[in-house]
Amino acid sequence: MWTIGITGGIGSGKTTVCKVFRVLGIPVFQADMVAAKLQNEDPYIKISLISLFGSDIYTKDGLLNRKKLAGIIFNDRNLLDKINNIIHPAVHQEFKKWKALYKDLPYLLYEAAIIFETGSFRNFDRTILVVTSENERIQRVMKRDHSTVEAVIQRMHNQFSDSEKMKMADFIIENNDNQLIIPQILKLDQILKSDNHVRKMDR
Ligand code: ATP
Repeated sequence: MWTIGITGGIGSGKTTVCKVFRVLGIPVFQADMVAAKLQNEDPYIKISLISLFGSDIYTKDGLLNRKKLAGIIFNDRNLLDKINNIIHPAVHQEFKKWKALYKDLPYLLYEAAIIFETGSFRNFDRTILVVTSENERIQRVMKRDHSTVEAVIQRMHNQFSDSEKMKMADFIIENNDNQLIIPQILKLDQILKSDNHVRKMDR
């Protein structure tokens, strides 16, 4: 059974694309959601983050103060790497447990906002990148999260550009307003089910 990493910049539509794969019967592991849960619940991770940032990185309800953390790590690659080194092994353990639940499927998806940036793309049999113009991504995220242009652009800073990621990805799904994702997903699903053909979608 292949594991396919699926990624894309903030607001590119990877979660939307994954919803379509789910309808096709393909299970999706949402790594960022699992990481967020672990940051709030896993004692080892909580202690590690408190030792790095102090106890007020958690609210009095024991939840990670994401806004505060984002402010601290903004543009600090070194701190971001430290956090990733704490959280990624725990997410990987969860993924192994989750994957063991599925048998006799041609492939599974692992959805994460960053896989090329961390080097974790090497763990996957193939990778899918969802691309959408920066302008559309900003408009969509502002609408979805009621956030400002500046806040969206700040979150984009920790991600590679689409042009860098397109050189690394095996398959690309284009999700601009004028493009239909369902035919692209059906075509890709066929490729991934067709006995592990090493083919790339037309770009
Ligand atoms: P994030 O990295 O922030 O989690 P994402 O890549 O998972 O984002 P989605 O949440 O799937 O992106 O999509 C961002 C927003 O854009 C959502 O509100 C979604 O409904 C909307 N959206 C996704 N695709 C399209 C599309 N083709 N046309 C219009 N809106 C879209």
